[in-house]
Amino acid sequence: MKNKSLVDLRQKGKYLEWIIQEYDHFYEMLKGKNPFPLQVEIHPYHSSQKIPCTNSCVYCTGQAYRESFRGGNIKGIEPDKISKLIKDVKSKVKRIVISGNNTEPLIYPWIADVLRDVLENNLDLFLYTNFYKGNNEVREALIEGDTDSFVRISLDAGNSDSYDKVHNPIHKDCFKVVQKNVEDLITLRENRRSSLKVYTHYLLTEENSNKQELTNFVDWASDVGVDVVQFCVPQKPITIELNPNDYSAIMSEEAYNTVKNDLLEIKEQKDGYIRIALIEPLREQKLKPFFRCNVQGIVAVIGYNGLMFPCTSVASEKFKHMTYGDINKKDFFDIWNSGERLKKMNFSLGNCPDCTRAEFGINEELRNEIIF
Ligand code: SF4
Repeated sequence: MKNKSLVDLRQKGKYLEWIIQEYDHFYEMLKGKNPFPLQVEIHPYHSSQKIPCTNSCVYCTGQAYRESFRGGNIKGIEPDKISKLIKDVKSKVKRIVISGNNTEPLIYPWIADVLRDVLENNLDLFLYTNFYKGNNEVREALIEGDTDSFVRISLDAGNSDSYDKVHNPIHKDCFKVVQKNVEDLITLRENRRSSLKVYTHYLLTEENSNKQELTNFVDWASDVGVDVVQFCVPQKPITIELNPNDYSAIMSEEAYNTVKNDLLEIKEQKDGYIRIALIEPLREQKLKPFFRCNVQGIVAVIGYNGLMFPCTSVASEKFKHMTYGDINKKDFFDIWNSGERLKKMNFSLGNCPDCTRAEFGINEELRNEIIF
């Protein structure tokens, strides 16, 4: 029987089911071996870019690190190094995740080559993007993806006004451009009979969650052929202090329940036309009930500075001390298999920020596992 897709399991918070699906891999890791990672995540960025992202969202997971980019201090990742990495991991890892931590991957000057490289080397591609730069070249590269590959586009708004409030984009036309790019991608996908999946993501805040706006958004997504519309609320961090105003749009419990009921109604009306996923939120991070990070044994994250990190949450200048090596200077497996990495992996979690939901879920499920 075919494995359930990771994205479906993640939407439902079923991390244990995913671990069971990948049992052999997790078993090796828990025995103290060093298997190949299941996935490699890359945050493409290069100093020749004018900006790290076209938006400046209040809830950007990497917003706290934006200062690091001023003054051109971050050199980024050389394109030939990404290309070499992809060839090195071919047939060894399952998928490449292209995303960003304060960076928008489609601004990377060689992004279409990167996307093509991933798919031509028979790796699954998960692309997380705001899709403002989802131009023709990018769309042509993407439709080579099959059912196990997807692009997830953050829109978070049903109209331009909301989009501007939630994202603070560089241009006022961003919402319309993104919608058009999504429509053109899906038209191309249909014309070429590609089975690439297209998801949209909608972070619910006080600014963008009235019923009419949500209905308009779902109607549009359904009409143009988006596969799944995901809704979620931002998560309040406990270990990285943001400005108190940054929390201002997090909804009260009461407001969230109203929005949830509205969404359930919309879902009932639309059932069969589009899949609507409401990811039940952790409203606030929980304290970590685990003492060892096992996520780092199954993923490798290459941050915008070319450094390999144990996870997405720490892939930034601020946590440089947690890096295992620089992909601009060493080959992927020279870092992954190095004694330095294996020695460093038992670090104290007291110095970590909050995990993402997925990182937390996996570590939580594995917390009682005995290391053989
Ligand atoms: S933040 Fe979470 S996932 Fe990342 S290294 Fe720390 S414990 Fe692991």
